[in-house]
Formats: sequence, C-alpha cells, structure tokens
Amino acid sequence: MTMTEGVRIRATPCCGKLYASPNYVSMNFMSFGFWTDGWREHSLMPNETGLRQCACGIFVKLKDMINIRIEEKSELPRMEQIPGQLLQDCIKQAKDEEMEILARIAYWRYANHDYRDKYRAHRDAEEEESKKIWNLLQNQTNKWWKKLLRIPLPEYRRSSNSPFTYPPFEPTVAQVENMSILSNMLLDIQKQEPGRYVTTLAELYRELGRFEEAKAQILSIPENEVGTTSRLMTDLIDEKETALIRYRM
Ligand SMILES: [Zn+2]
Repeated sequence: MTMTEGVRIRATPCCGKLYASPNYVSMNFMSFGFWTDGWREHSLMPNETGLRQCACGIFVKLKDMINIRIEEKSELPRMEQIPGQLLQDCIKQAKDEEMEILARIAYWRYANHDYRDKYRAHRDAEEEESKKIWNLLQNQTNKWWKKLLRIPLPEYRRSSNSPFTYPPFEPTVAQVENMSILSNMLLDIQKQEPGRYVTTLAELYRELGRFEEAKAQILSIPENEVGTTSRLMTDLIDEKETALIRYRM
C-alpha cells in the first residue's frame, strides 16, 4: 500500500523557497497496465522523473531539495509536476547532464501520449468488434434446451486468436530528435556503468527503428534477469516493430 505520514517541508536549492510534499512511508507501484516506454497506466504512484519548477522559474530535481522538517500538515504550497508543454524548456535550461536526461525521459513519455490515445481507441474498437462476433457465434451455436431454460450465454472471454492490431507509430521530428539525443547520452553512461539503462536503450532504439542496437541491448541482459518486459521487447524487435505497446505483467 502507498502510505503517507505527515508532510515533508523542503526548500528549493535555487532560492530557498519552502514547499510541502507528502511524506511517503511506503510505496505501491501496482499498476493496471504497462507501456514499453516505462509509462504505467492507472498507477498508484505518480509516473515521473522527479523534476519540478520553483516559483522563481528555475527547474530543480526533487533529489536536490533540502529537507527542513516533517510536519503533521502544512499550508505551504505543493510543487506540481512540470507540465508536458514545459519539458522542452526544462531540457534547454537543464543545469547538468542528469537533469537533461530526466527531462528528456519525461518528454519522451509525454510526447508518446498522443499515440497512447490512438492506441487505446483502436484497441477498444477492435475488442468491441471481437466481442460482437463472439456473441453472434454463441447465439448461433446455443443449444435449444439452453434457450428454453433461459440459461444466460457465457461471459465474453478474449480468445488468443482474436485480432490484435494497433495503429502505426509515427514519431514527430521533435520526438525522433529527443530519442536520438537521449539514447546517445544514456549510451555514454552505460559505457562507464555496464548494465545501466539496458531496457530503456533497447526501447529507444526500437522506437527509432534501430533494431540491431536494440537487440544488442536485450542480449546483454543476464539470463536470470530476463522477464516479461524483456521477452516482449525481444519479440517486438524480431518482428521489426517500432510501435509502443501496452501490456500486463
Ligand atoms: Zn527558486
């Protein structure tokens, strides 16, 4: 369970302005759906990279905030997540490499939201169609005595051979540029710290259509660490698929 106890009062490193934030004592990352770019659907914890904008205009990392005290409650303002439209400003004004990476990851996921909307609408429509066909078949094959006894039709269950399609993924020039720069930055870090950002890099390369580099990343995962996400990514890379995909764990 996600639990909070009181509020944490923290000061920004830029000008010392005080803000309140929930004091988490435990966190639950349970989520109803995952996307290959790391976005979690209906997550109990916010999807975020930990960047904020101080009232003075400066962008800050939450990890750089200075802890002042814990209080039961507070009237101090909360810091909201940086709205997606400001993420490109945050990238430009990033005061260090770490902030730029966090802002680029946030922008990557934010810019994918348009596609997520299209994907959901497409999947819902296709699922609705499968359901219609299923119901029709059930009605046709329903035994006369079941009809007579008014036994309700079984509930719809998705069959594994129902069609599963999604709209084409066509990132904009700004998205491609961001993904390319981000992948270069992460690769530089990975050269120093092997094993870091493996799935993130695999996904960036895949979305960019750079399947060989994506595959090399996935193959570097030790066998005992291979899981649902990396198996799905391997399949997508082998199919030369660039689209963002929603899945369940
Ligand atoms: Zn400030």
